[in-house]
Amino acid sequence: MANKLHVKKGDTVVVIAGKDAGATGKVLAASPSKGKVVVEGVAKVKRHTKPSKNDPQGGIMEKESFIDASNVMPYCPKCKKGVRIAHVADKNGKTVRACVKCGNKFDK
Ligand SMILES: [Zn+2]
Repeated sequence: MANKLHVKKGDTVVVIAGKDAGATGKVLAASPSKGKVVVEGVAKVKRHTKPSKNDPQGGIMEKESFIDASNVMPYCPKCKKGVRIAHVADKNGKTVRACVKCGNKFDK
């Protein structure tokens, strides 16, 4: 299936590569077409903001930027680490994502 990521918005993921390797955070946004995700607290970049009506002083704002989705793995709360996922059928026959190690389901 093209344009489909192994992680999606709201997932907790572990960063496995790059300068934030080892960090965990929630996926704030996912862009399947670009194969990129934004992870809470990861790949923060400083942006200088100009003074505006709402922010008369202006200043520096930190904001997460997109990172490659291949650099993150879903975090399994049971295994306490980033894991590979398997696609399994739940009792209703729906395909859900599960941890390959312990079977913990990521989708409900
Ligand atoms: Zn697991």
